[in-house]
Amino acid sequence: MRRPLATLTALALSLWPIAAPATQGHAHGHGEDAVVGTIAKVEGDGLEVVDPDGKSVSVRLTRTTMYLKGTEEAKKADLKPGLNVAVETADGKAGLEARVVRIGSPDGAVWACPMHPEVTGTGPGKCPKCGMFLEKKKA
Ligand SMILES: [Zn+2]
Repeated sequence: MRRPLATLTALALSLWPIAAPATQGHAHGHGEDAVVGTIAKVEGDGLEVVDPDGKSVSVRLTRTTMYLKGTEEAKKADLKPGLNVAVETADGKAGLEARVVRIGSPDGAVWACPMHPEVTGTGPGKCPKCGMFLEKKKA
């Protein structure tokens, strides 16, 4: 006799999300991801970002979402279509949730990795070497 129950259990376990309680902030580690691109639309709690490949990603803005402009604190109202953003995301109950939204400025500033100054960009992004977010540098 086969054991469909055991198979099901194994499947359920493998699909079970790593249920780390959503303690704010210090949850750096696996499962963390980022969406980098241009804001296409801000509607209610939904933020739509188009990445450099033209793929659009919807991220949910929550009450705990932080907004940063460079190193300064920003507001949800600062999100405008056309701005570059790097969104630190987490898997929430209702899909992708924004943890931190880093807003880029269209002023031609240079962004660089805190660990790898040679890694630069023209807006928010992630360092391909270490995965840290690029920080805005003074020109
Ligand atoms: Zn780096």
